[in-house]
Amino acid sequence: MLRVACKDIGIADCDFVVEGEKVRKVEGKMLEHLREEHPSMVAGLTDVQHKELEIRIKSDMHGLEPGAQPHEIDKHVMLRISCAAFGTAGCEFVAEDRKVRKVEHKFFDHLRDQHPEIIAGLADEKYREVERRVKEAIEHE
Ligand SMILES: [Zn+2]
Ligand SMILES: [Zn+2]
Repeated sequence: MLRVACKDIGIADCDFVVEGEKVRKVEGKMLEHLREEHPSMVAGLTDVQHKELEIRIKSDMHGLEPGAQPHEIDKHVMLRISCAAFGTAGCEFVAEDRKVRKVEHKFFDHLRDQHPEIIAGLADEKYREVERRVKEAIEHE
């Protein structure tokens, strides 16, 4: 069951709640309610603003199936590290993954393959220093 309340989308003094099985239906009922009870929220909206409102309703909906709708975005945050951010001038390599460990792994593979001089023969202490720099260079999208 999906559910979205007026309170969820920022209308604090209204107790209206929509429940339903389908995102589209819950969204439709909420928009209908907004038009009837809070016309100022929907009146005179441009297409873009209307789309934003729909997105807001969707993203505040509770109980969505995992991987079903807007919450999917949160779960698919990409981590990224580019060789340039790491400090290797002139290399376009970028490693991406959802897990820090995997991004690091991919990047170290790349360093071993393409820039062996950076990690070859490093003492443990220096190697940890490189690891720290890699961690710092990882960007969260
Ligand atoms: Zn309301
Ligand atoms: Zn590189």
